[in-house]
Parts: sequence; C-alpha cells; structure tokens
Amino acid sequence: ASGYSLLRDPQYNKGLAFTEKERDAHYLRGLLPPSCSTQQLQEKKLMNNIRQYEVPLQKYMAMMDLQERNERLFYKLLIDNVEELLPIVYTPVVGEACQKYGSIFKRPQGLYISLKEKGKILEVLKNWPERSIQVIVVTDGERILGLGDLGCQGMGIPVGKLALYTALGGVRPSACLPVTIDVGTNNEQLLNDEFYIGLRQKRATGKEYYDLLHEFMAAVKQNYGEKVLVQFEDFANHNAFELLAKYGTTNLVFNDDIQGTASVVLAGVVAALKLIGGTLAEHTFLFLGAGEAGTGIAELIALEMSKQTKTPIEETRKKIWLVDSKGLIVSSRANSLQHFKKPWAHEHEPVGTLIDAVKVIKPTVLIGSSGVGKTFTKEVIEAMTSNNEKPLILALSNPTSQSECTAEEAYTWSEGRAIFASGSPFDPVEYNGKVYYSGQSNNAYIFPGFGLGLVMSGAIRVHDDMLLAASESLAKQVTEKDYAKGLTYPPFSDIRKISANIAANVAAKAYELGLATHLPRPENLVKYAESCMYTPLYRNYR
Ligand code: NAP
Ligand code: MN
Repeated sequence: ASGYSLLRDPQYNKGLAFTEKERDAHYLRGLLPPSCSTQQLQEKKLMNNIRQYEVPLQKYMAMMDLQERNERLFYKLLIDNVEELLPIVYTPVVGEACQKYGSIFKRPQGLYISLKEKGKILEVLKNWPERSIQVIVVTDGERILGLGDLGCQGMGIPVGKLALYTALGGVRPSACLPVTIDVGTNNEQLLNDEFYIGLRQKRATGKEYYDLLHEFMAAVKQNYGEKVLVQFEDFANHNAFELLAKYGTTNLVFNDDIQGTASVVLAGVVAALKLIGGTLAEHTFLFLGAGEAGTGIAELIALEMSKQTKTPIEETRKKIWLVDSKGLIVSSRANSLQHFKKPWAHEHEPVGTLIDAVKVIKPTVLIGSSGVGKTFTKEVIEAMTSNNEKPLILALSNPTSQSECTAEEAYTWSEGRAIFASGSPFDPVEYNGKVYYSGQSNNAYIFPGFGLGLVMSGAIRVHDDMLLAASESLAKQVTEKDYAKGLTYPPFSDIRKISANIAANVAAKAYELGLATHLPRPENLVKYAESCMYTPLYRNYR
C-alpha cells in the first residue's frame, strides 16, 4: 500500500509515531512533519485535548474521530483511562449522541440493515470488509437506554458496546460488527427531523418484523458460522424475550439487558452477603420494575438459590416479589400479565404501591429497575431500615436522573445502615463523619469477559450456568479492601484482569457442558484468556 493510504487506514495509521525506518520503507517521506512521536506522547496530547472540551458530546465526537483515524491509539486511551472515558463512549453520553446522531453524523460506522435490504441481507453482510467476525451487537433502536425509540440512530449503542468488548474484554476490533436493524421508528420528532438518517416510516411489526430478523439471523449463521456471538441490545421488551427464546436454541445469542444485567446484579448481591449476612436463600427480594432487567435478575437469583439449596426453582421464586406499574404482581392478575411476569404471580392479596409492598412483604433486599427516578422515597428507605439491620438497596435505573434514589439519600435516610449500589455512578458520601462508598452495577463488568469466554472456547450456545459462572467470578474478585469500604464490586481500573477471570470461568463452564468446540481445552484458562486479549500497542512495520 502507498504511504498515503497507510495514513488513512485507521487499522494501520500511527500518525507521528511512524519511525524513521517505517517512513523510509513505506513511502511516508514528506507526508509527515519531521518530528517522530511515541504512542505515550500521543496519548498525553489527546487526553489533554479531550479534557479541555467542556461539553461531553464534544468529548464523544473527539473519541469517535480518533477511532476512525487511529484505532490502536483510540483503544490505548480507552484502556488506560477507562474510568474517565467509559461514561463518554458509553452511557450516559452515548445516549445524547444517539439522540443527535443525524446532526453529528460524519462517516458511517457499523452495518445498517433496513426493510429496503429485505431478501438481500446475505449480500449486505458481504459488503462488510472483514470476513472473520466473532461478536455482533445488534439493536433495532426501539428502547435505547432509558431514552425510548431512537430508530436508526440507535447505532451509537452497538458501536459503543463493541468498543468495550475490545477495550475491556480484548476481543479484536476487526472481529466486532455493530449492526442496526431499521424497521422504522415511532418517534415523531425523528420522523420530522430533516437530518434523521433512518427510514421515514412507522415501525414494522408482526410478521414483517419477525421475517426481517429471521433473515438476519440466518444470514449471520450462514456467513460467519455457528460460533459468532450475536448480542441483542436495547430491543423493547415485547420483542426481546421472544427473540432470545427463539434464537437461543439455534444460535449463540445473548441479551445484555436481560442476561448481562442479571449476572452483574447477582454478583453484587452475592458479594453484599458478606456485609449483610445470611445466605442468598435466606433473603427476601422486592423489585420495583418487572421488565427485562427486573425479571431477568429475579430469574437468575432464583436459579442460583435453587442450585444452592437443591430446591426446585418454582419454590425459590417465591422468595422474590415484583412490583410493576400496576402494583404488586400477584396471582389474581395472572391472566392479564405478559408471559415473562407470570412466574412471579404469587398468592397474595393485591397491593397497589411500593411502600405498601415493602410493609407487607418485608424484603431484606430492594431493587429498583423501573426506569423511573426518585421512587425510593424517604418513607420507603425508612421502612426498609426499620425491618432490617442492614438493608441492601440497589437503585439500578439509568441514567442518573432516573436513579431510584441517590447514594446520599440511601445513606442519610437509613442512618448509614444501607448497603447501596446503583446503575449510574455516585461519588462517595460523607455522613456523620464517615465516608460511604457505593458500587456501580455496570453491565460492562460482565459482558466483555463473558463474550471473550464464549469466543475463546468456541462456544456454540449460551447456557444459564455460564451466566452464573460469570457472576460467581465477579463476586469472588471483590477483596477485603473493597468490603472495608462498603463496596460490592471490584474497582473498574482492574477491568482487564477481571474480564480475563470471568472469561476463564465462563469458558470452563462451556467445556464442562460440552458446548465448547475449541479443543483441546487449554490447561490454564486464565492465562489463555490473557493471551487472547487484544493489546493496543503499535506494531512495527518492517
Ligand atoms: P423495561 O423492560 O421497559 O421494564 C420497565 C419496568 O418498569 C416494567 O415492568 C414497567 O411496568 C415498570 N414501571 C415503569 N414505570 C413504573 C412505575 N411508575 N412504577 C412501577 N413500575 C414501573 O425496561 P428495562 O430494560 O427492564 O430497564 C429498566 C431500567 O433499568 C432502565 O432505567 C435501565 O437503564 C435500567 N437498567 C440498569 C442496568 C444496570 O444497572 N446494570 C441494566 C439494565 C437496565 P409495566 O410492565 O407495568 O409497564
Ligand atoms: Mn442495553
């Protein structure tokens, strides 16, 4: 390739870091100023630049520009500054980026498959430059974060999630494929926005929708084989459960909103037992919100309880109660419930509100997953505190504005007794002269390592026991030092190591279940995981 095209290929470009020898060998003389830089110096310069932007969206755009200009440097920044940059390339800033995607759109990222491509999806896949794909993240844009239907502009989510697959889980960037399926949008504002990039029509539903998804899933399997992981992301719950169930038996599929959330929250709960005491099965759980997150978490907790106590899951589910927008889910409502809520319709008289449910169910653990902020009121937290020495309170709704309560409220209203974790991060809180730290139950703890474990073992199906394995590994990595601070998750700065351990535990389970095809099984799976992980250091071009 000519030096000029080398500079314009993000996979190979090093900018000023091309050495004298490389400049001679690759026809780069004159195309670069005389100075040679190092990757460290480039990193320093870019971080300085990014920190100068006051508007978060500008930081996001600077990162996306970098990804398109110099891929290795992009990942170097992301890995070395994960706590600072995660909120930029992922939630919450990516949400704003999706809302404004049409107006900030420069160069397309990922693959767009719309109703126009019906009948031609296999050809569309062949237009993508990379042949060997290991992980696909796909959205239909209908429930982007807590922001609702963003149609085609949801593309920011698969792009962002896959950046984390690489930075946190070490999956090669060239093996990652972001996909947006565009079946229209019901978002009037976008339909009337002159810069909207998607199909200008209402969402296709029913057969038309399911046919397009089916063509996509079949084309993916045909083109990339049985071992490509398809992660469903930010589908509305009326499609998410069905797609997962339907393709779970024929493809390697994973839904992060349902399964990833479940795994990360179970890990936090198991870790919290060290602080609140008791076994999992000795606790009573109450959820506010019975959608993808709520019922997904509930089911995985019930499964783990069932394994620990050797009790049928139908029994352990009875320790878990959920409240939705119509009140406590109880048996008298069974006929009108969506199917994913039915397992939770226990015998009980109707209860209309969360506070009444807390009073009658007397949960030891309260989990918010409704997407509605400020719902853990003073009264709710006080009721939890009067029933429990150390109430475990998880406010999972994102972004920060939707959090059920703040860390400060949880500690203040419980007089410092609550163990608290949240979906969006909160700074440490000082209360009565003591500093309280809260954990962040961020899915990014789980899915990158989970995906790496599947990929490195050549797994062909996802099994619930793998979710438990991921969860167990994460919980084990919380140290005494973390517990001493009241933390139920390990620090994010260790994420590459955390991911390697999760990957090893997931892969071990895949081998045990006979679902792994990468044989023979490597002896030391942690070492093997580490050896598989992409590193963003520049290579020397001879
Ligand atoms: P979803 O499938 O749409 O479910 C939302 C649930 O909340 C539904 O059951 C809904 O009730 C219920 N609900 C809505 N308004 C309510 C109200 N005022 N009172 C009581 N219940 C109400 O959404 P999801 O995918 O589960 O996501 C929910 C939230 O969890 C989002 O904010 C998301 O950001 C957050 N989340 C956090 C994490 C994390 O921390 N790691 C991971 C995933 C999701 P109906 O069924 O009656 O409509
Ligand atoms: Mn999601």
